[in-house]
Amino acid sequence: MKLAIKGGTPVAAKDKSFVKWPFTRDYEWEYVKNSLCGNRHSWGENCDLLQEEWSKWNGNTYTLAVNSGTAALHMCIAGCNIQPGDEVIVTSTSWISSATCILHHNAIPVFVDIDYDTMLIDPVKIEDKITENTKAILAVHYWGLVCEMDTINAIAQKYQLFVIEDACQAHGSLYKGRKAGTLAHCAAFSMNQNKNFSAGEGGLFVTNNSDIYHRAVMLMNFGERTVPTLTRNYLSKSLGWMYRINDLTAAYARARLEYLQRDNETILKNFLYLKELVKDIPGLKAPVHNDVQSTNGYAFVNRFDFSMLNTGLSDRQVTNLVFRALLAEGIPVSREIPLLPEQKVFQSKEGYGKGCPWSCPSSKAVDYDLKQYPNARLSNARSIVFTSFKTGNTVEQLELFSVALHKVIDNFHELMDV
Ligand SMILES: *Cc1c(COP(=O)(O)O)cnc(C)c1O
Repeated sequence: MKLAIKGGTPVAAKDKSFVKWPFTRDYEWEYVKNSLCGNRHSWGENCDLLQEEWSKWNGNTYTLAVNSGTAALHMCIAGCNIQPGDEVIVTSTSWISSATCILHHNAIPVFVDIDYDTMLIDPVKIEDKITENTKAILAVHYWGLVCEMDTINAIAQKYQLFVIEDACQAHGSLYKGRKAGTLAHCAAFSMNQNKNFSAGEGGLFVTNNSDIYHRAVMLMNFGERTVPTLTRNYLSKSLGWMYRINDLTAAYARARLEYLQRDNETILKNFLYLKELVKDIPGLKAPVHNDVQSTNGYAFVNRFDFSMLNTGLSDRQVTNLVFRALLAEGIPVSREIPLLPEQKVFQSKEGYGKGCPWSCPSSKAVDYDLKQYPNARLSNARSIVFTSFKTGNTVEQLELFSVALHKVIDNFHELMDV
């Protein structure tokens, strides 16, 4: 069979195209309409109810509904009382907000390499990075897989550190049967449209600790001490931002929350079917899922090791060829973004300008030399991300993914002159 990139027929023709996420349902209109017809479009009843419903769904004492996962992460940093020059340990592979939330509080991110298998922060490499300035570990449950939390919490206890969960991709993901967002001092979830729990944009901050909660409230709400629900006195006790959600978004989020459990079940079922379909592809490493670290199926990340083909090409070149060939076959895949420490904001150490916060008097020098992250670099060079397998896609559509993969890999030699 001729590869589509060489003029052959694509595996997934236009009429078989994948159902894009989010998959929406008619009843959601009612929620949004009720909010629109009311007169509290800023902080309203839906915001309060969303907080209550999320606390119940996830098993947290406190939830604050905010306008992004990034905001919720910043609230985690403030909630843990991180101060200028404090260091926060974070993984080297994630979305940029996992590290910029630290900078926004004038604190310093310190990156740790990943474990190649899980693509998550390697707990074995954390202790090397702890200094007298370290105040917290920010554990990112990347691609929906929960970090090795028992080990991370044990290290944190030994050095008296806070642990923050970046659960922005991990709604309903489990660690030893316990939900993401209940495994550390506080956590952030995103409701950006790509996530399993999507409301366009939005975020959720959660904690069970009242001190952390009250500090997070101030950051969320202009530095005021009161949550938006209560009567405000407009007195700013500290430097705050405006991170509140609005009633329309909260209404839409509540509608989607009704189906989150069912959506997650479908997504995980499809994820496991994909794993089954690709298991005999030589050189392909499928994402991890087991009884200890159970993903919510947020993404299906494939990593290719083609050293046995002796192509003479680098890992990145090989992956790029497979990627382009898959796109030509009609499979909507994407490449991994650069490592966090590779991003210019860290390499240039500019931040707020004039080198802040790295140049602040309370900060100590940190090193972002990329040689410290060999697993992250290898994994990045080999990754192809697939997310179009969620609710609404049929078994036949899922199978197109593996048919295309088999086709491209069986005919890889044809790509050598692309
Ligand atoms: C999406 C995401 C964020 C940020 O969430 P937003 O709602 O887009 O601000 C942070 N961390 C991770 C790992 C994410 O995937």
